[in-house]
Amino acid sequence: MKNYFKRLIFGPIDLIKGLIVTFRNLITPAITLQYPTQKQAMTQRYRGLIDLYPVKCIMCSQCVKICPTNCLALTHKEGPDKKKELESFKYKMELCCFCGLCAQVCPTAALYMNKIYEIATSNRKELEINLLNPDKYAEWAHPTVR
Ligand code: SF4
Ligand code: SF4
Repeated sequence: MKNYFKRLIFGPIDLIKGLIVTFRNLITPAITLQYPTQKQAMTQRYRGLIDLYPVKCIMCSQCVKICPTNCLALTHKEGPDKKKELESFKYKMELCCFCGLCAQVCPTAALYMNKIYEIATSNRKELEINLLNPDKYAEWAHPTVR
């Protein structure tokens, strides 16, 4: 008998509590993104793929020396005005551990880590990136994350 009255009093209270939670969620804006048409914008410090501003590079090779997995390689040549110019700058993405040391050590901020995060491929050759190619990440880059 005691339990019957207890349920009679607390039952509706619990029901109201549940309805409050439901109502609160009804009026809260959804945070779910409609992936893959909508993409998450990465944070400022996100470490994506290695990218390069070739004009800023002074060919000091500090990034190449500090890389723990040897995934960076560059060559330079003498330009028409007898100044050094970049000939090639390769990045073996499959070896990269995204430690960010290369970007940290670069004295001119020529090397940086972009915001691209969808980097799956079935072609292993695509993981060897020519950093001097301006369209190197065109396939992976989405306008909202580039
Ligand atoms: S992020 Fe680290 S592993 Fe990747 S290229 Fe830079 S130094 Fe090398
Ligand atoms: S550390 Fe920077 S400036 Fe030096 S070679 Fe690497 S990208 Fe170029």
